[in-house]
Amino acid sequence: MSRKRKSRLIKNAYAFFYYRFPRYREIECYLRMLAQQFPKKVRVERIGETIQGRDIHMIIISRNLKKPQNCVLIEAGIHAREWITISTALIFIDHLIRIPRLSSTMDFYIIPCLNPDGYEYSHVEDRLWRKNMNTNQTEVKECQGVDLNRNFPFMFGRHPGSSKDRSSFMYHGKYALSEPESKALANTFCRYRKLIKLFISLHCHGNLIMFPWGYTEHPIEDRCDLVDCGFACKQAMKKESGIDRGFKIGSISKLMYYTSGSTTDYARGCHNIKFAYTIELQSGGKSGFTHSTRKIVEIGTEVVTGIGAMARFVHKYYKKKDNPTKPKCITTKCKRPKTW
Ligand SMILES: [Zn+2]
Repeated sequence: MSRKRKSRLIKNAYAFFYYRFPRYREIECYLRMLAQQFPKKVRVERIGETIQGRDIHMIIISRNLKKPQNCVLIEAGIHAREWITISTALIFIDHLIRIPRLSSTMDFYIIPCLNPDGYEYSHVEDRLWRKNMNTNQTEVKECQGVDLNRNFPFMFGRHPGSSKDRSSFMYHGKYALSEPESKALANTFCRYRKLIKLFISLHCHGNLIMFPWGYTEHPIEDRCDLVDCGFACKQAMKKESGIDRGFKIGSISKLMYYTSGSTTDYARGCHNIKFAYTIELQSGGKSGFTHSTRKIVEIGTEVVTGIGAMARFVHKYYKKKDNPTKPKCITTKCKRPKTW
């Protein structure tokens, strides 16, 4: 079967996530199907198992799986109610399959749904559920669940970025990495830390492109590089849609609020991943989390373009850094030497 015909078939059969929010089992089937159809460039790894026994998957899309390149790690759906982040990750996967040049210089490791228990619960019980489904040894629903994005072992439990109160929406859990979902992501970082050059955690909402730190307002030392990479994302998204959505670029603590034990601070603080971002997508519905299905394509394609631009920026950065005849810093604004 020709490559063109194959990708057209895939698009027709599996374009469901372009017009509706899929259930978790559909996502699993889609990933499995891609691994079977494209064994040379797609691998699906089971990176962990949730409290309720669901598998957590990561898909690796590479020009050639036998020759791993530097990679971009994208995590979506850590917060159950943020369905649009999961759709966006799936649209990204679909683009990478259909447009091979996107993965020609960097590989993409994508976890489309890190919190499947919470995601399913938000489909069947409580649309605005945010945390995972840890019962926390109580029957009281309000006191259940851990905010996985506060459960990572960098500045864990620090105030005011998280809470020790089980009923809080940002309850950090009993101890760092107490939850199987956060452990799955942490293990992935440990396993691939040498290859990961760009990490992106997708969230909604707020139109923000944010980098560390979340735990302090103290500015990060290479802020200018991180702003430039964020700016590449913003410009690409604007070009794609022709609309300036007013994305702001800055640190998590300054643009949003204090967060401690988050994935983005952890990526930078524990694994020295220089380019680590939290992207807050456009809001949807009254709460900001309940997007209409009509927004899926618009947001998804915009973000694909934006992250593509970030990947190109990061690839260029390391290419120049590896070449000693060229200056280490590709930005014009930063005068300080780069340490990471
Ligand atoms: Zn979130």
